[in-house]
Amino acid sequence: MSEHMKRRSFLGALAAAGVGSQLGVSDQAVAVGSGGNGKLEELKITKAEILQLTGKNKRRVLYLKLHSNADAVGLYGPIDSEAAMLVDRFFKRGLIGQDPLAGEAYWDQMFRASRHSRGSHYMMALSAVDNALWDLRGRYFGLPVYRLLGGSRKNVRAYASCLGFSQEPSALQAKARQLKSQGYRHQKWFVRDRGPSHGPEGVEADVEVVRLLRGAVGDDVDLMFDAFWKWDLQYALAWTRRAEQYRPRWIEEPFQTANLDAFIELSRETSIPVATGEHFYGRWDVHKFLKADAIMVVQADPEWCGGISELVKMCTLASVHGVNVIPHGHSIHAALHVVASQPVEVCPLVEYLIQKMESYYHFEKHQPRPVNGMLELSERPGFGIELDESKIADVRAVSWQQT
Ligand SMILES: [Mg+2]
Repeated sequence: MSEHMKRRSFLGALAAAGVGSQLGVSDQAVAVGSGGNGKLEELKITKAEILQLTGKNKRRVLYLKLHSNADAVGLYGPIDSEAAMLVDRFFKRGLIGQDPLAGEAYWDQMFRASRHSRGSHYMMALSAVDNALWDLRGRYFGLPVYRLLGGSRKNVRAYASCLGFSQEPSALQAKARQLKSQGYRHQKWFVRDRGPSHGPEGVEADVEVVRLLRGAVGDDVDLMFDAFWKWDLQYALAWTRRAEQYRPRWIEEPFQTANLDAFIELSRETSIPVATGEHFYGRWDVHKFLKADAIMVVQADPEWCGGISELVKMCTLASVHGVNVIPHGHSIHAALHVVASQPVEVCPLVEYLIQKMESYYHFEKHQPRPVNGMLELSERPGFGIELDESKIADVRAVSWQQT
């Protein structure tokens, strides 16, 4: 079956399910190459809506959809409910009439539009809009986002992020060996169950996790550790002194991001690269850490930090400082396209949260799955998101305007 026919049958099934009008997907809406009509100056956003998808398994997720006056939409998700609510209440109306190609001016305008714009849920909402705009541009021009960003990498190495796996010694070692045999050359494990209140025994137990893993995978797998901001400086210093012999690739978020001084001090005292950034909002947070030599890995999340547009700026900053950007992986579409757009020296890896990703993209036809530790970039336009109607029981636009 040709791609065109497949698309037609998908659309036909959507219409039969009565969800096509809500998704607003038509043959024209997914047509590629429509940017060649020579009418760039007329491109405008006509509608923004938050779509709530309910699965036949009762699962519910939210996607942001932007409509335009051309044959292209922007679709991004799943998005967090906090972001969705703010998009609906604060961003939606102002999007109407905006030029989706003028993303830089729009971002700046929205950053100045609220005195609380510097972080948290506001920046998450701005990220959702920014990412949906990138998808719209991709569909309009018939190009994947990473190509629009200037990228040429056809695949990207993923690291196995092992949140949720057992830390019982034999299970821990067996899983690490299994992941290595599946082609993961990099694994991140979590040392978040203990902290300062556990004293020297806590440090001992957290070093033992490192020792067991190094013993299981040998020397040719990079091991990273995430403390989930549970430690203090003394605990981190005690752990790094003892863990250095096992050569971790990084220690992530030993402290809350607010505690810049502790990051600076730890980076001075240990040879283990220090990482953080999943709670960075905007380029200014990154700049503060980089100019203080506080970290070696920036882990900003393009669904939280201000979107793809902001993460690209962070990559530029990091490249000036000789620091890696390896985005946080609470989701993967935006992170994957930014990483693929950058030199491997700046963005060597993308995070793949193994357990979460098993079901996170339940409603999508093309779920990102590493093969031999690599994630492939597709040539589908935008982020290549295509919803799978066979899993959708209901689609509706939702609003928080009246609450
Ligand atoms: Mg983390």
